Amino acid sequence: MNGHPGDEKKAAVVSGGARGIGRAIARRLLEDGYSVLIFDIDRKTGMKTVSELQSEGDAAFCHVDVGDEESVKAAFEQLPGRGYGHIDFVVNNAGISDPHGDPIGKIDIAMWNRVLAVNLTSVVLTAKHAYPLFRRGRGAIVNISSTRFLQSEKNTFAYTASKGGMVSLTHALAVSLGPNIRANCISPGWIHTHDEPLSAEDHAQHPAGLVGEPRDIASLVSWLLSDESRFVTGQNFIVDGGMTRKMIYVE
Ligand code: NDP
Repeated sequence: MNGHPGDEKKAAVVSGGARGIGRAIARRLLEDGYSVLIFDIDRKTGMKTVSELQSEGDAAFCHVDVGDEESVKAAFEQLPGRGYGHIDFVVNNAGISDPHGDPIGKIDIAMWNRVLAVNLTSVVLTAKHAYPLFRRGRGAIVNISSTRFLQSEKNTFAYTASKGGMVSLTHALAVSLGPNIRANCISPGWIHTHDEPLSAEDHAQHPAGLVGEPRDIASLVSWLLSDESRFVTGQNFIVDGGMTRKMIYVE
């Protein structure tokens, strides 16, 4: 304890928090009153995001490759020296987010292994190295999967496998780390994170009438980390405007 605000408040690690969905999660958790530690491989964008978010609360950046154990270990080990003696929450959001890969005959196994490392093994690595820092051994984990855990486009082997693994790993974590640590998963559908314009049809095809925004994921993360969800663990929540409930057969 160094008298840093990070030790008095609850602290959340948000991987991939430099931009996109992770940035919105970081902002929401700052609004909830937590310290937020953004773990991201993109140092420049991560530092910029942290400087922008500091007006909202106590935010800090750690340069981490979540697919590399030495990097994850070093990131958690440096936290007490930066004033964060304990953490309370981990949000595993970082990922190689482009699902598209090569056809089966051309699969590059090095790339397959990298996607699995960043999108799936990372969840085990953060749990392993966060574990000693959980305040009084208590905490909550939220994993960000994708509706692609149950639906595919062609040639999305590694991404799909990684996101399916994440859903299963969530209940393994919940059963293994409970009762003190809860683990849940969110599977987003289409979340608009970039600048390209959306059409009326993009919105209208969703039963909910709109394409999702990062805040639609952040609000559920907020609830899953709070005591309001204390009886919820090991679950996967699909947040996709109803798309996976829609029949798609051509008539
Ligand atoms: P983005 O690609 O916009 O942002 C992901 C962030 O994670 C980037 O800052 C990226 O850095 C970082 N990152 C990538 N690899 C690593 C790594 N090895 N270590 C640390 N940080 C890393 O993604 P989105 O915001 O769109 O998505 C966030 C999560 O939500 C992903 O897991 C994605 O699969 C999932 N998702 C997104 C959907 C969507 O529609 N947007 C739908 C369903 C799921 P860099 O840019 O340098 O790679």
